[in-house]
Order: sequence, then structure tokens, then C-alpha cells
Amino acid sequence: MPSEFTGKHVTVAGLGVSGVPAAKVLHGLGARVTVVNDGDDERARTQAAELEALGVTVRLGDGDTLPEGTELIVTAPGWKPTKPLFTAAGQAGVPVWGDVELAWRLRGLDGREPAPWLAVTGTNGKTTTVQMLASILKAAGLRTAAVGNIGVSLLDAVTGEEEYDVLAVELSSYQLHWAPSLRAHSAAVLNLAPDHLDWHGSMEAYAADKGRIYEGNQVACVYNVADKATEDLVRAADVEEGCRAVGFTLGTPGPSQLGVVEGLLVDRAFVEDRHKNAQELAEVTDVDPPAPHNIANALAAAGLARAYGVSAAAVRDGLRAFTPDAHRIAHVADVDGVAYVDDSKATNTHATEASLAAYESIVWIAGGLAKGATFDELVAGAATRLRGAVLIGADRALIREALARHAPEVPVVDLDRTDTGAMLQAVQEARRLARPGDTVLLAPACASMDMFTNYNQRGDAFAQAVRELGA
Ligand code: ADP
Repeated sequence: MPSEFTGKHVTVAGLGVSGVPAAKVLHGLGARVTVVNDGDDERARTQAAELEALGVTVRLGDGDTLPEGTELIVTAPGWKPTKPLFTAAGQAGVPVWGDVELAWRLRGLDGREPAPWLAVTGTNGKTTTVQMLASILKAAGLRTAAVGNIGVSLLDAVTGEEEYDVLAVELSSYQLHWAPSLRAHSAAVLNLAPDHLDWHGSMEAYAADKGRIYEGNQVACVYNVADKATEDLVRAADVEEGCRAVGFTLGTPGPSQLGVVEGLLVDRAFVEDRHKNAQELAEVTDVDPPAPHNIANALAAAGLARAYGVSAAAVRDGLRAFTPDAHRIAHVADVDGVAYVDDSKATNTHATEASLAAYESIVWIAGGLAKGATFDELVAGAATRLRGAVLIGADRALIREALARHAPEVPVVDLDRTDTGAMLQAVQEARRLARPGDTVLLAPACASMDMFTNYNQRGDAFAQAVRELGA
């Protein structure tokens, strides 16, 4: 079937998770595809050979030269906007799309009615919220999937065999940067804390890219009442006539908000006469884990689902059916009256702040690669809840110094080692510091790559160490 891509000279920037499928899809649509890639390693060569066998041209080791005749670039989301390839594209008037923009433009190409997108972004909580949303939509009997950085890829979701009524879409700030024409049915920005600033150039640029998710929304822009920056983004957005701003809050909701009243999640946005009425959606204990930030995620997911017209009962059933992914506040075991919780996914201070806020008395295991973060605010905010701290990893001194400044009375064990076995010792030290009723919480506020392959391996090492305690 001829399309706007037939015969078009498209350059795909970057092999890898999004590049290879994008090249294949575009080639299948009759485009003349060239892939450019910075690296020229074993893996890239294998991927290149596979694409070349299909008739795609691949240039390894040079991701900066714009191929002659390029009419469109489809880039991997992680490529920095300042790369020379994009400067050259700008000068030549060549548009640049990311993987999300491509998926958005390919919707309905096969003649099917495209599924609307309910989109989620934010510094933390995206994956969890999108999974909760998909669970709620499924409970409502809708054909849906959690897509984006998780589960099904966006390209597969819009070009594959499977038909969907509506999609729950996770979007990163990079993806939003490269998605100029995306128009979601409704969207949520969960929170906004400094992250990836080296890529975006400034906090303003980062916020502006996140804010693109609201552009052209049809029914609701869902924002976090406790995070004014998210509300500012709603105000700045150009939306469809009649689209509403809907807030979520852990407090009592005002009109046009979802919130919490006496242990219940309550909707005062999608009800008749919202000035007088409220609709009960679920109990706080229906959310797993019922930590404050996770209740916020559930409210955001509920807001998007309600914007799509889902019933209160489906919100409850969907939240009950949801189980969090591994290493996100996962309760590993109780040993001698102490709970051991794995939040290895807390790789930045914003996530760790949420995690520390969820428990009364904590022995905190933290440290790793700080990625330029500072820890004063985090430690000062949690000081009264810390029974003790055990520090591991390359940048642990930064956390130790923050503890000395803001929580000098808290006992600190500083483990001067960065080998994988350090986790067992860290858990043993934590056990020594803990009292019955405490929580030993792995919420490192740092990346894991100084000691582990990734946060999964770090969390697994923690769980293994806890099992050895109990043995
Ligand atoms: P993302 O997809 O944005 O990385 P995840 O749902 O995978 O988000 O959670 C990442 C980390 O952030 C976890 O450690 C989790 O405990 C924490 N987190 C989840 N939701 C929130 C939130 N609303 N605010 C702050 N931290 C959160």
C-alpha cells in the first residue's frame, strides 16, 4: 500500500532498541532507509548485517554526517539535540522525529481506527502509573496495553496485528522532545525534579519538554497539586476546547480534583455537580504498596482512566489487580520483627525521598554513583526517621557528609568497599542497627553501575543477603 513514506529517503539515527524496528517498519513501507550509528562494535555489526540483508544501508562509526538526500531523520530518543547531525538537519530544513513521533504518525495507516493515547510522564513513577492505568483499563473490559519504555513497544502497538481500544503510554522527556505532533486524549505529569539536565541543557528546557505531553489534549490534563511546576505546565499548554485541568492530591480533593478522604481514594472531577458530589473509587489499602507516592500514582492513573470514562468499580478492581514490578518498594522478608524492603529502583534523590517518607523508623542502605546529585535536602527531610544508615559504593562520602551536617546523631556505618559482596555485609550491619518495628530500606539514591550490572542485580543481591540472615 503506497504511503507518504514510499520512496522517501529516511535516515534512522542510532541502531538499538528503537532504531532497528524503526528501520524495518520504514523499509517495509517502501522508504529508502539509511541507518547511521556512532558505534562500530560487535553488536552493531550483527544488527547492521541483519538490516543490510533486507536492503537497508547502514553506516557504522559515523553518526554525525547527514547522508546526502535525507528528507527525514528518525532518531533514537537518547541522541542529544546538540549533535552535529541535527545541526546539519536544521540547516538543510530536514525534520527530525523520535520513535514516538514515528509511531504517532503511523497510527491508522492500515485503515484501522487509531486507538487514543492516555499518556504519562514525570521524573519518577511513570512505569508504575502506566501499569496501574493499564490494569484499570483492562478491568473495564477494554483492549489495552502498557506501552512505551515498558511492555509492548509503541511501534508494535500501532503497526502490529493486535487491536487496541486505548493505549496506556509511558513517555520520557527525551521522547517528548522529539515528538512535536503528538496529541494525547489525556495526559499526566506526575512530578518534576531536576534530572537529565546535561541532556536538556537546563531545568526550563527539561520542564518544557515534559510539558509537551499536554499539548493538544482533548479531555483532561492531569497534574500534581503538590508540585506546582506540573500545574504551570498545564497552564502553558495549548489544548483542545473543553479540555480540563484535573489535579490529584494526597489531601482532601477540591472540585476538579482526585484525592484522599479517610482512607478512601475519591473523585471530585468526573462526577455530576463536582461542587457538591464526590465518588468513592477505592480504598488506600487497595494500592500496593500503600506508600504516599504510590497513592499519588494511583490517583493519577485513576484520573486518566476516569477521563476516558471508566467506572469507579473498574478503578478499584484494576488497582487491586495491580502488582508492582520488582525492586520498587518490594517487601522481601521480616526477620526478628524488622521488615526488609528493596527499592533498588530508587536511583535518584527524588525517588528515595518518596521511599523514606513511607516508613516511620528506618535503617537506610544507600550509596553508589551519585550522577552529580547533592544529598542535603534528602537527608535533612528524613533525619527524624533514620535509626541508622549503612553506606556503600563509590560516592558514599557525599551521603556521609550530608548525614554529618543534618543528622549528626544518626549512627552511620561506612563500608569501604565497592565489590558485589559488600551487600551482604551492608545487610548484616543494618540488622545490627535495627530494632523490632523498624524497616531496613535499600533506597540508594544513586545508580548502581559502580558495583552492579544494574539496579536489578543490586536488588537481587539485597534480597539474597536478607535470605541468608533468615537462614
Ligand atoms: P519511572 O518509570 O519514572 O522510573 P518507576 O515507577 O519505575 O518510575 O519508579 C521509579 C522509582 O521512583 C522507584 O524507586 C519508586 O519507588 C519511585 N517512585 C515511584 N513513584 C514515585 C512518585 N510518584 N514520586 C516519587 N518517587 C516515586
